[in-house]
Amino acid sequence: MSGWVVIAGLGPGNEDMVTPEVRATLDQATDVVGYFPYVARVAPRDGLTLHGSDNRVELDRSRHALSMAAEGRRVVVVSSGDPGVFAMASAVFEALEAGPEAWRALEIRVLPGITAMLAAAAAAGAPLGHDFCTINLSDNLKPWALIEKRLRLAAEADFAMAFYNPRSRSRPEGFERALKVLREACGDARPILFARNVSRVDQTLRIVPLTEATPEMADMRTMVIVGSSATRIIETPRGPILFTPRSA
Ligand code: SAH
Repeated sequence: MSGWVVIAGLGPGNEDMVTPEVRATLDQATDVVGYFPYVARVAPRDGLTLHGSDNRVELDRSRHALSMAAEGRRVVVVSSGDPGVFAMASAVFEALEAGPEAWRALEIRVLPGITAMLAAAAAAGAPLGHDFCTINLSDNLKPWALIEKRLRLAAEADFAMAFYNPRSRSRPEGFERALKVLREACGDARPILFARNVSRVDQTLRIVPLTEATPEMADMRTMVIVGSSATRIIETPRGPILFTPRSA
């Protein structure tokens, strides 16, 4: 049987948010490759080898997946959320581009998943209902100056904004700088959502005006969404609903 590579998204954490397409493909796999905690979400079974690896080895992991497929194995590379959003799909294609010509004949497919941004937006209401953009706030793979430029221009263009990887222990000062840029560029008390562990049992949602946001409100399990100038809150007995109207 000929091998293949599928790069699949496992969604934000809740098992009900794994698509049937991804489930069915995992059932056919001989090997699952990915960052340890994501691989741990796949149930072990006979005939399936789980290859968990560390966070920063995306290209090694991609080459490993492609070389196993070239030997005839059926390999699923897993990411959380969607594999095309700050995740493994691009890494696999970078490895393919730089790898042996023979790899290009392999069947390679990307299966979408529910990305954290969309799960967070849905949990809070509809803050991304008008034009929006998304930025990865980690400066692991790009310089901070570029992040800051994109933040300023996005705020100036009055996009709602969704931020992945807002703050980690290794670079706690980045998010503080991001908040400063946003306060300067937005210039008002627009709402900011901190959505932590979305879709999991310990999900928390917190909405505060930008002026009251502090760096400690975010960590690496948090999705941050900043409203545009049109984003509003409806107070209800069940909690606030954050939404951006269809017209601006
Ligand atoms: N491919 C993933 C994103 C990987 S980047 C996706 O599409 O969702 C990892 C970042 O995603 C985290 O730092 C956090 O900002 C966000 N994230 C992932 N899962 C999350 C969840 N359940 N709740 C809140 N944020 C989450």
